[in-house]
Amino acid sequence: PEIIEHLRVEHELSNVSFNTWIQPLKVYDVVDNTVFILVNMNASVEYIEKKYQLPLKVCIAETTGTEYDVVFISEDDDRLNEIQNMAIEANQKKKSKSAAEKAGLNPKYTFDTFVVGGNNNFAHAASLAVAESPGEVYNPLFLYGGVGLGKTHLMHSIAHFILDKNPKKKVLYVTSETFTNELIEALKNGKTAGNESAMSKFRDKYRNNDVLLIDDIQFIIGKESTQEEFFHTFNHLHTSGKQIIISSDKPPKDIETLEARLRTRFEWGLIADISSPNYETRMAILQKKIELDHLEKYNIPNDVLEYIATNVKTNIRELEGSLNKLIALYKLNNNESIDIALAAEALKDIISSDNKREVTPELILDIVSDHFGVSIADLKGGKRNAEIVFPRQIAMYLIRNMTETSLKAVGVILGGKDHSTIKHGIEKIENELQADETLSNTINIIKKKINPA
Ligand code: ADP
Ligand code: MG
Repeated sequence: PEIIEHLRVEHELSNVSFNTWIQPLKVYDVVDNTVFILVNMNASVEYIEKKYQLPLKVCIAETTGTEYDVVFISEDDDRLNEIQNMAIEANQKKKSKSAAEKAGLNPKYTFDTFVVGGNNNFAHAASLAVAESPGEVYNPLFLYGGVGLGKTHLMHSIAHFILDKNPKKKVLYVTSETFTNELIEALKNGKTAGNESAMSKFRDKYRNNDVLLIDDIQFIIGKESTQEEFFHTFNHLHTSGKQIIISSDKPPKDIETLEARLRTRFEWGLIADISSPNYETRMAILQKKIELDHLEKYNIPNDVLEYIATNVKTNIRELEGSLNKLIALYKLNNNESIDIALAAEALKDIISSDNKREVTPELILDIVSDHFGVSIADLKGGKRNAEIVFPRQIAMYLIRNMTETSLKAVGVILGGKDHSTIKHGIEKIENELQADETLSNTINIIKKKINPA
């Protein structure tokens, strides 16, 4: 109505033309960015189109702030059903998208983008089976394997698959860090008077699910209260036939500080490992990444891909990282061709880190960047927003504590900050650590990622 009024005023339509042509129009449906408008059987679609399509388009854009295509369609058009189906489908897609977002999922981590090879075909098949029949086949599903081999990717794929099929399913993906930190908060708030419900809110969140995925369970190991709470969460879900999916860097039998009762439960379902990919799989993953990221335009020669696949063996994240680095170097030295020399340059830091890696400031920056999803450039830069300042201060603290680096040198590594900024940042983290249990949990997890024992 607002739009129609706008049209009437803007175009100074006479009452007669307004009442004859515009008033009877009805919005039939909106699909993506197209508005379908229903035209009375007795009116001429062509005439209305010619005369009012553009003005209407402009009015809609002015009133809603979004540009829509306007399509007029007669009441007796055969396409009406088709359009309605399109609208329903688009709506469902939107819903499942927001469900996937709500569940904290990376849209890129799906079964479609996962390359199956000898190293992961068992884990892949088990994941697919669980995704097709959650709660009915393997419960829990326990995925384990080294860093960067695709555990998180597979877990997100399962969650996407389930939500795509049924957006109403309650699917929750969390890292064990989130689980622990939310538990700590709930316990703390539960103690302050009059806030009895913090714990019950926590329990609702974790128990009221059809599918619960806990990533990197190794990080809750050794925390008694967390293991205790997770034990109850597990039992609650399992007895009501809800699916649990867990990932870890080791199989349950090798996790030393895991309580026996949890170990037994983790072994109830199916345990599947992911190992390092062989050469063919590494090549296939590189090809897939080129396709997904639209890198064909760079015409990367095959011998360069072979060089990367030969040299980066044990970590798929690094395999992808090498390709990104190669492209970045290529753009930096513009016009130079992509050849093995450039690839060798791109792999310089990565190949040596394949062997026993040393804790360096660069490694710490890398892991902090990955953990918080903040770029290394931002860690080194000068942005002042909390989402960046906090990880930056954590990086200062860890570099200072885990390597032999002077305050001044930490400043240089972090993009040329002065000694007092660094000192202040480190002190801030040290002070907060005294009071904030979730921060100390987070710091411990990052330390374990830097230096897995
Ligand atoms: P993990 O959780 O085991 O440390 P991730 O799932 O985070 O490893 O995987 C690291 C990166 O490698 C991600 O970008 C992921 O998409 C990619 N990756 C891992 N395995 C595969 C695979 N089989 N096919 C395609 N990409 C993969
Ligand atoms: Mg992971």
